[in-house]
Amino acid sequence: MHEMSIAEGILDISLDTMHQHKATVIHSVQLDLGLMSGVEPDALLFCWDAVTQGSPAEGSTLDIRRIPITGQCLDCNTVFDVKDRTFICPSCESNIINTIGGRELQVTSIDID
Ligand SMILES: [Zn+2]
Repeated sequence: MHEMSIAEGILDISLDTMHQHKATVIHSVQLDLGLMSGVEPDALLFCWDAVTQGSPAEGSTLDIRRIPITGQCLDCNTVFDVKDRTFICPSCESNIINTIGGRELQVTSIDID
């Protein structure tokens, strides 16, 4: 389950930030998660509870913001939300699409004290 190593990575980032600010408690962590990141949010939340046990982040909330998949048509440059993983341009029906959003996996803010 690769969510476990991802949760550990998020915890590392959170602890670094906490130490930099001479804080002692992590209340919550906000995470941008693209729909194409390959990460299962429920599994990640489960792993977050596990890896934070006994750490300053124990009992903290992992707020996951799902980022939709965004495509750009390489024929007409239209940017659109990809629905149901259908990579077809809504303007010209081209299927030559560059994925420009949806693979995000990034901590955006951390609430510490
Ligand atoms: Zn197009």
